[in-house]
Amino acid sequence: MLCLQFDILKKYIDIPPKKVHVEAMNPTDHTHHRPWRQIERRSSRQIMVGDVPVGGDAPITVQSMTNTDTRDVKATVAQIQDLEKAGVDIVRVSCPDEESSRSLKEISAQVSVPIVADIHFHYKRGIEAAQNGAACLRINPGNIGSETRVKELIQAAKDYNCSIRIGVNAGSLERDLLEKYGEPCPDAMVESALRHIQILEDHDFFNFKISCKASDVFMATTAYTQLAQVCDYPLHVGVTEAGGLRTGTVKSSIGMGNLLWAGIGDTIRVSLSADPVEEVKVGFEMLKALGLRHKGVTVVSCPSCARQQFNVIETVEKLEKRLEHISTPLTVSIIGCVVNGPGEAMMTDIGLTGGGKGTHQIYIGGQTAHRLKEGDESIVDHVVAMVEEKVKSIG
Ligand code: SF4
Repeated sequence: MLCLQFDILKKYIDIPPKKVHVEAMNPTDHTHHRPWRQIERRSSRQIMVGDVPVGGDAPITVQSMTNTDTRDVKATVAQIQDLEKAGVDIVRVSCPDEESSRSLKEISAQVSVPIVADIHFHYKRGIEAAQNGAACLRINPGNIGSETRVKELIQAAKDYNCSIRIGVNAGSLERDLLEKYGEPCPDAMVESALRHIQILEDHDFFNFKISCKASDVFMATTAYTQLAQVCDYPLHVGVTEAGGLRTGTVKSSIGMGNLLWAGIGDTIRVSLSADPVEEVKVGFEMLKALGLRHKGVTVVSCPSCARQQFNVIETVEKLEKRLEHISTPLTVSIIGCVVNGPGEAMMTDIGLTGGGKGTHQIYIGGQTAHRLKEGDESIVDHVVAMVEEKVKSIG
């Protein structure tokens, strides 16, 4: 037993420190060196939402939804532009009435991201949305009535090069499925999805993705996992009605995080009762945490304690705000003292470890670089300047 432990220890002792550093220097290419971080994505076919590919080997896209009155074009465009600044890839807009679906014409002309029109029941809203610039229709073909209506709607999607999202939701399952299964459950959701898939396929329409959402993380993850096994259409992943900023973030991270980790999910939406911009930020953080997408600065920071040599929490809060405009992927460690500072700095592009008497150690690419004397310059100003410099050098 002792021998075994020694062997294990020896294995780590034998790793040359330089090699560890070299691996850490390339945060965007870690899977080659670190197979334990590798996620194998489910192979799915690719569709287009406007000019944004979804599925296949396309990056996992981040979506959000406006909560303005769609008829108020100015307010809706302003909100979409805020979402664009946060990095959103696709935005969904509700079309509850004719004026809303017709407003899409002006809205889509003023924004860069593709618009998904959210349609419930009224097939005519779907047709109007397709005619007025929607790149995708979120609609369940099984819920819109007669065969003629379904045909007309699918024809409009074909004519205007609109994709479709089948949006199964545990809260609005077909009555007969509820009777069959007794209550909303993953099997009922998957059966509902398969029915909608069948309708589209019967009309020679294959340009669609599917969501299978529930507010219960167990139900949602099980439904998506089952659906992923029975079809290769791209999946729009989300935990619906997840709650407010904190509850919703935790719930979504558990549910969607599990799916994404298992390689399931081609596009995501975090549903929060909060500013939609927060949904985008949380979505990106989720993808960044799993190494599925790299965007902007990731700050690694300690929770702080009595050993901290500067106010870590205040510094990180200010720093995250000041670095919001950076889209180049970079890692920055801000650690209160030498207990964990040098170790974390080894794995980040820029590091700061709190030192005594207001003198902190700065690291670049894992190597000690220089010391910063607080008072000469604030930590926040110094780190922001270093990050901007680094971004410029990357070009
Ligand atoms: S790194 Fe230092 S300051 Fe930060 S939590 Fe750990 S011991 Fe405390």
